[in-house]
Amino acid sequence: MSISKQILVTGGAGFIGSHLIERLIADGHDVLCVDNFYTGTKPNIRHLIDNLQFELIRHDVTFPLYVEVDSIFNLACPASPIHYQRDPVQTTKTSVHGAINMLGLAKRLKCRIFQASTSEVYGDPKINPQTEDYWGNVNPNGPRSCYDEGKRCAETLFFDYHRQTGLDIKVARIFNTYGPRMHPNDGRVVSNFIVQALKGEPITLFGDGSQTRSFCYVSDLVEAIIRFMNTGPDCPGPLNLGNPVEITIGELADRIVKMTGSRSKIAYHPLPQDDPVQRRPDISRARAALDWEPTVTLEQGLEKTIAYFDTLLSDSGTGRPE
Ligand code: NAD
Ligand code: UDP
Ligand code: UDP
Repeated sequence: MSISKQILVTGGAGFIGSHLIERLIADGHDVLCVDNFYTGTKPNIRHLIDNLQFELIRHDVTFPLYVEVDSIFNLACPASPIHYQRDPVQTTKTSVHGAINMLGLAKRLKCRIFQASTSEVYGDPKINPQTEDYWGNVNPNGPRSCYDEGKRCAETLFFDYHRQTGLDIKVARIFNTYGPRMHPNDGRVVSNFIVQALKGEPITLFGDGSQTRSFCYVSDLVEAIIRFMNTGPDCPGPLNLGNPVEITIGELADRIVKMTGSRSKIAYHPLPQDDPVQRRPDISRARAALDWEPTVTLEQGLEKTIAYFDTLLSDSGTGRPE
C-alpha cells in the first residue's frame, strides 16, 4: 500500500485495532474507524482524534454499513473469554452478521478485505504446533463456542465469498497477542498477572500452570498484518500469525513476578471448561509468504507492557496513558 488509501478498520478502538490504525496513519493512509465501544475505549484512540487522517463512526457491524473505502480490516469482535462470554449471542452475531455485512460492503466496492480470525478455530488442538491445514478440535456448544464457532463460520463466509464472487480476501489466524492497551480487566492472562503483580495481589493461576501458550508482541503482529495485506490476490490465507515461542502459564507467572519485583504469591484456581492445554503456531507459511518473523522477545515485550500498566495504575483511574 504505497499509495495513500482510505482504509476502514472495524474494531479500531480496541487493543490490536488501535495499534493497526496508528501504523496505517504513519504509513500515510486515511483511516475510518468503526466501533460500537463494546470492549474498545475512547482513550485507546484519544491521541488520534485531532488527526486529519482519522475519522470515527460509532456503529455496530451487525448492521449494514454503507461507506466508500479502498480496503477493509475487519477486527470487530470481543476477544477475551470474559468479554465474549458476557453476551454470547451478540458475540456470534458480531462474528457472523458482522462478516456478512463487511463482505457485502467489500463485494460492492470490489475491495480487499482482511479478517482477524483466531487460533481458537483450532479449539483444544490435538496436534502441536498447529498448522493451517489442521481442522481443529472445537466444542460446538460449550462456553467458548460463541467465539470459536463464530470465527469458524466467519472463515467459511470469507472463503465462500472468495470462491463464489472472486472477492480478494486475507484471513489471518491470530495467536495470543499482548502489549500496551490490553484491557486491565478483561481476564486475559498477561494483563491479569501484570496487574496482580503490580498491586501485590495473589496471582490467579488456573489449573496447575502446565498449559502452554505462545505470546506475540503487538508490533510484531501489526507488521505481519500489513505485510499480509500487501501480498498478491493469490494469497488469501488462512495464515497463522503469532510468535512460536511456547511457554507454560506457570512459567509466565514466575517471570512476571520476577520482572515486577512483586511479593505476590501464586493462588491456584480450577482450570476453566474447554481451556486449551497447549497452543503454538506453526508460522512456516507466514515466514515464506511475508518474509516475516517476530522480533520482540517475551522479555522485551513484557517490559513495555509492565511499564504501560504501571503508568495506568498510578494514573489513579483518570484514563489510559498514550
Ligand atoms: P478488543 O476487544 O480490544 O477489540 C475488539 C474491538 O471490536 C473493540 O473495540 C470493540 O468495541 C469492537 N467491537 C466488538 N463488537 C463490535 C460490533 N458488533 N460492532 C463494532 N465494533 C465492535 O480485542 P483485540 O484483542 O483488539 O482483538 C481484535 C480482533 O483480533 C478480534 O477480532 C479478535 O477476535 C482478534 N484476535 C485477537 C487476539 C488477541 O490475542 N488479542 C487473538 C486472536 C484473534
Ligand atoms: N452490505 C453492507 N454495505 C454495503 C453492501 C452490503 O452493509 O455496501 C450488507 C447488506 O446489508 C447485505 C450484506 O452486506 O445484507 C451482504 O451483502 P451481499 O451483497 O453479499 O448480499 P445480499 O445483499 O444479496 O443479501
Ligand atoms: N489464565 C490463568 N490465570 C488468569 C487468566 C488466564 O491461569 O488469571 C490461563 C488460562 O486458563 C489459559 C491461559 O492462561 O490457560 C491463557 O488465557 P487467556 O484468557 O489469556 O487466553 P486464551 O485462553 O484465550 O488463549
